[in-house]
Amino acid sequence: MPQREKASACAICRRELPEKDFFIVRIEGFYTPELPEFTLEDLANATRSEIQRICARMRTAGAEELLELEEEVYRNYTYLMCRDCYRRYISRPLPAPEELY
Ligand SMILES: [Zn+2]
Repeated sequence: MPQREKASACAICRRELPEKDFFIVRIEGFYTPELPEFTLEDLANATRSEIQRICARMRTAGAEELLELEEEVYRNYTYLMCRDCYRRYISRPLPAPEELY
């Protein structure tokens, strides 16, 4: 998506948007992976090679996890909306649970 979106049609009602009178709605979803936890005692008792092994494991696990969860790690959507649709949308941006399930 270019930095400055060009007006086209409203994402909801599909009416043509005026050149300088529309709204941009951006939705981003992030996955928040949990890294393995280590205590200070674990680190104090670890040798240099153990620390290197742990760091290598964390890097590998992170990369594999990101690849496996590619679709869930980060998603973003950009919608252009006319004034009327934006007002209705922004007053209740999340659907009710019964609309999702
Ligand atoms: Zn609209």
